[in-house]
Amino acid sequence: MNTPFVLRFACSIALAWLISQPTLGQPFPNRKYGQEDKFRQLEEILPTPNSYRAANGEPGPDYWQQRVDYSIDVRLDESQNQIRGSETIRYRNQSPHALRYLWIQLDPNLFASDSDANRLRSGRIGFGNRATMSEIDGILERQSFDGRCVIESVTDAQANRLETFTVDTMMRIDLPEPLLSGQEFSMKIKWSYRINNSKYIGGRTGYEMFEKDGNAIYEIAQWFPRLAAFTDVTGWQHKQYLGQGEFTLEFGDYLVRITAPADHIVAATGELQNPNEVLTDVQRKRLEQARTADKPVWIVTPEEAKENEKEKTEQTKTWIFRAEAVRDFAFATSRKFIWDAQGHRVNDNEVIAMSYYPNEGEPLWSKYSTHAIIHTLNVYSRYTFDYPYPVAISVNGPVGGMEYPMICFNGPRPREDGTYSSATKYDLITVIIHEVGHNYFPMIVNSDERQWSWMDEGLNTFLQYLAEQEWEQDYPSQRGEPELIVPYMQSTNQVPIMTNSESIMQFGPNAYSKPATALNILRETILGRELFDFAFKEYARRWKFKRPMPADFFRTMEDATARDLDWFWRGWFYTTDHCDIALDKIDVYMVDRRTPDEIAADEKNKKEAQLPTLSKKRNKELVKRADQFPELKDFYNQYDPRAVTDEQRAAYQKSLEQMTEHEKELLANTDRFYRLQFRNIGGLVMPIIVLLTHEDGSTKEIRIPAEAWRVDATVCDTLVITAQPIVKFELDPYRETADINRDNNHFPPVLEPTRFQLFKSQRRGSEDNPMSRAKRAQEAKEAQQAKEAQQAKEAKEAKEPSKEVTDKQPQAPDQGGLGAKKKQEKKKKKRQLSPGV
Ligand SMILES: [Zn+2]
Repeated sequence: MNTPFVLRFACSIALAWLISQPTLGQPFPNRKYGQEDKFRQLEEILPTPNSYRAANGEPGPDYWQQRVDYSIDVRLDESQNQIRGSETIRYRNQSPHALRYLWIQLDPNLFASDSDANRLRSGRIGFGNRATMSEIDGILERQSFDGRCVIESVTDAQANRLETFTVDTMMRIDLPEPLLSGQEFSMKIKWSYRINNSKYIGGRTGYEMFEKDGNAIYEIAQWFPRLAAFTDVTGWQHKQYLGQGEFTLEFGDYLVRITAPADHIVAATGELQNPNEVLTDVQRKRLEQARTADKPVWIVTPEEAKENEKEKTEQTKTWIFRAEAVRDFAFATSRKFIWDAQGHRVNDNEVIAMSYYPNEGEPLWSKYSTHAIIHTLNVYSRYTFDYPYPVAISVNGPVGGMEYPMICFNGPRPREDGTYSSATKYDLITVIIHEVGHNYFPMIVNSDERQWSWMDEGLNTFLQYLAEQEWEQDYPSQRGEPELIVPYMQSTNQVPIMTNSESIMQFGPNAYSKPATALNILRETILGRELFDFAFKEYARRWKFKRPMPADFFRTMEDATARDLDWFWRGWFYTTDHCDIALDKIDVYMVDRRTPDEIAADEKNKKEAQLPTLSKKRNKELVKRADQFPELKDFYNQYDPRAVTDEQRAAYQKSLEQMTEHEKELLANTDRFYRLQFRNIGGLVMPIIVLLTHEDGSTKEIRIPAEAWRVDATVCDTLVITAQPIVKFELDPYRETADINRDNNHFPPVLEPTRFQLFKSQRRGSEDNPMSRAKRAQEAKEAQQAKEAQQAKEAKEAKEPSKEVTDKQPQAPDQGGLGAKKKQEKKKKKRQLSPGV
């Protein structure tokens, strides 16, 4: 007889403990057959590890890469805006393969009017029916400008002509006999091309003409025939240059002799070899001072640069640069350059940071550029490896932002009056950090940019964000914070990060912001700073001066952290899923330790607290037959089935007495057991972060790993046990997961009123119209005429005070009116013109 009550308690306790392990051995009623497994291992899509690339993400025991050394003579013809060069390339075949031909990149061919890039150009002009004049100029210029690489000769070291064949931006050189593994081959190429005027045809290279002084800044990049990369993954990387996907090349040493007008200052990849021949005594002395200075030192002052702009010379000078272990070479040259420099130590490495800019860049450039270079080297070296090169350069010219080994081009400038907006200031610091940062990715960690933009842009933008935040408090970073990526994550025209560069939609968010944000989330939310930083540094260490592929990055990050991150790479890099986790449902449980009388009272109260049904409420007034004939009532009209009997009380007491001390303790537990159920709406599996607020205002943070979704990626739950009631739940309180919808993150829901903007309603037809405007204009004209007549009258009276004025309607001077009308017409014409041609 007493069993029901004992069972009841046992049940309650059992229930409480069961839900404390909600995902162990429990069925998942929501999991649908065939539901995508977000935790499926990536091995199925990553390339099979081999002796070149190991399963742990490091270079394998047989890893190899080619080596290419260059010796180049180049002459800038300023009057023709032309590059003429001749180079000797020494190619060392360190691959296990015999090569019958070599592929050379001819990037200037991008500017041939019939290049693939030009033929693939979209037909869209401007925006809607508006286009800027310079846009139209650019379109027309591309039709006629031919900036292709003109190859004068290709010979071997003995001057024997070599067969070549050009395919758009790639040239094949057929070798007289196969180049066996371990052999090397030297060849000579002579070429020339016309430099693009950046005003019409922009890009990563070009010249900028300053009309007011007739001088130009040349930023010259992707300018010489460069050996394409040959790798264990792609074979020849000779995917055509279409403009978006940058490039990947081989490491080697460069000796470059740049002949430019004698009054030019030349900045280039590498160390200057002949300062005695190209610099003045004063400049060399200043450069020496700069090496140990704690602030940037002028090598060429603004005044000297201004003076230099005034005259041109027919003379030339040859600047010689040497660079070791670089994958490319770029330079900038102009007589407009101001030049400042400051020495910097990265542990054992002495670096000189230098900036080159025209007076048009002042006062911004002298204030920020060199500081930003040094800051970048400091921060990036801490997260990767010590900056290994002797120089780091930032140049202002026509290119908005582009990186090459040791040198980068950065666009922002103040207004002509020397003032600037905060946007310009931070654009400048940001772009310098970014482009200098590219020395690490991809100039040293040599990823394949033509294939995977995110591997350099994403990793670099991630470090850029860290460097920005160390520049000043609350630096206005545009990329890195999860909440900044939300609009992109919820956009529909997206492709996964793992998409070839040329096929990317929304290039900036896809290749820069999303991977940078993903890494920031991986660091802050998933792995923690210490573990992430260790792994990221390990990736940089493993692949510095080598060529990593995406799998090498994914594998290294797991290898060094003891975390299976396949779900993370899968979600963030292989899909366009976004994070939207909802706090779906909350149940609260307590141990039931009430006596039978307490239970009965609770149930009675609960019933009484309920409003009667509508019919019951109305039926109450009806006359009942049983009231009219009391003899119809019997035992059951008095009987209360819920009343507690003495027998039940005794049974309860007995069950208590039979309990062990431990069972009694459990029964005495007053904790609350909250079961929180979450729904994954966005598809992306992510950790669940919940902030609980207790009744007394104290808070507790709960962090559940993303594996909570491992069995069912749509619904999961967790148990929270607290001594005091929880009054508020908030999901992702620190906005760290890029959750796109925060409306479903609260319990109880937060109702934030949207404020109405109140307007007076307007009757239809009462709006302004051309007729009313014409009427107003007529009235204004008449008022003006009346005023002028009055003034004329007064003037006349002042002259002849005694004379009666008889002209009641003075003739208005028509001149003013006509003039105003003409002006109006002119204005109208202008307005018609301005929307663009
Ligand atoms: Zn970049």
